[in-house]
Amino acid sequence: MSKNNNSRNINKRPTIEEAQEAVKTLISWAGDNPNREGLIETPMRVVKAYRDFFSGYYCDPKEILGKTFEDIEGYDEIVLIKNIRMESHCEHHMVPFIGTAHVAYIPNKKVVGISKIARLVDIFAKRLQTQETLTIQIASTIQEVLKPRGVAVFIDSKHQCMTTRGIHKERASTITMSMLGDFKGDPILEDRFLNMIKINSQEC
Ligand SMILES: [Zn+2]
Repeated sequence: MSKNNNSRNINKRPTIEEAQEAVKTLISWAGDNPNREGLIETPMRVVKAYRDFFSGYYCDPKEILGKTFEDIEGYDEIVLIKNIRMESHCEHHMVPFIGTAHVAYIPNKKVVGISKIARLVDIFAKRLQTQETLTIQIASTIQEVLKPRGVAVFIDSKHQCMTTRGIHKERASTITMSMLGDFKGDPILEDRFLNMIKINSQEC
């Protein structure tokens, strides 16, 4: 796999007008007329959508995990944040892959606000990605910043480049995992993590 370097390219960002021109070019290439009424505002809308889809380049994932809590009464068991909806775009076709992320860690004297874990997933998901890279980036950032005893990340998603084009396997989903620290090579911990994912969550 190539190095995890899908970070922002600060120097070469085109202007918003240039981005809109590029969308017009793609509309023409698809076979339509970018100047017909229904399409006139489309480049502007697409650029705005891109700003949202790829907002992760403009957020610092390490900063998100910066605020931690140490008053945890010696809690040293698995903390699992599961069923985190994940929306990303594959870097090969720039179409969505959408699924669920489950993120666990075993604290080492400190924890982070649980919403920050979901936010971290979003920051890396809102970039051009492969699911494998995304999985590792989430795990390794938690490991690096929080320095827990271990981290486990599990992602299950459907790639529209596979379901709506190409081989059209609409039911195929892809599972990726990353285990770091105590989780790595410990089948008992790994099993506990996978079983916790399977437990039905509280409905409220
Ligand atoms: Zn793809």
